[in-house]
Amino acid sequence: MIDPIDSTVGENNLSLTAIEVLMKYVLDTSVILSGKDIHLSDQMFIPPSITDEIQKGGRWYKKFQRYQAAGLRIVTPPGTVIEMIKKQAKKTGDFLRLSEADIEVLALAYHLNAVILTDDYTIQNLARSLNIGYKGVAQKEIEKEYRWAYRCKKCKRWFDEPVEECFICGGEVSTVKMESDDR
Ligand SMILES: [Zn+2]
Repeated sequence: MIDPIDSTVGENNLSLTAIEVLMKYVLDTSVILSGKDIHLSDQMFIPPSITDEIQKGGRWYKKFQRYQAAGLRIVTPPGTVIEMIKKQAKKTGDFLRLSEADIEVLALAYHLNAVILTDDYTIQNLARSLNIGYKGVAQKEIEKEYRWAYRCKKCKRWFDEPVEECFICGGEVSTVKMESDDR
C-alpha cells in the first residue's frame, strides 16, 4: 500500500518565492497533518505542545520526523507572550476556539517575528489582529479580520462574552461571526 503522505510528494509542494524562503516559519498542527511536503529553509519552528498533538507512531509521525530531520526546531515561547496572546484572544472572542498548542503557535511566531503556516481560520484571525504574518497551505487565507459576537435570538441583545442564555429574557443566544468593522 502506498503511504498517503508519500503519494503527495512532488505534486503539492508549496511554491515559495526567494524572499519567503529566507523567512522564519512557525508550523501549526494542521499543516503537519495536511501531508503537504513543505520545502523551506531550516528556519522552521514549532512549540513543544504541537508534538503532544501528533501521536507517536501514528500516521503523521513519520512526516513529522522528516520535518525534524529537515531542521524543524522545537522552541518554547516565553510565558509573558503566551499571556499577551490569551488576553488578545479573549478580546477577539477566539479564546474558546483555541487549543493550548494554537496559543503557543501564535506566541512563538510573535516572539520570533515569524510567519505562521496554518489553515486554521481562528489562528489566522488572531494573527491578523496582532500583525503576525500567516500563510495558508491547503486553503486560501482569510482576507478580513473577524470576531465572534453573541446575540439573543429573542430580545436581540448583543453580548461580547459567550453566554449560555440571555440574562435579560432567558432567550437562546447564538454565536455570530462578525467582520471587524460591523456593528
Ligand atoms: Zn434576550
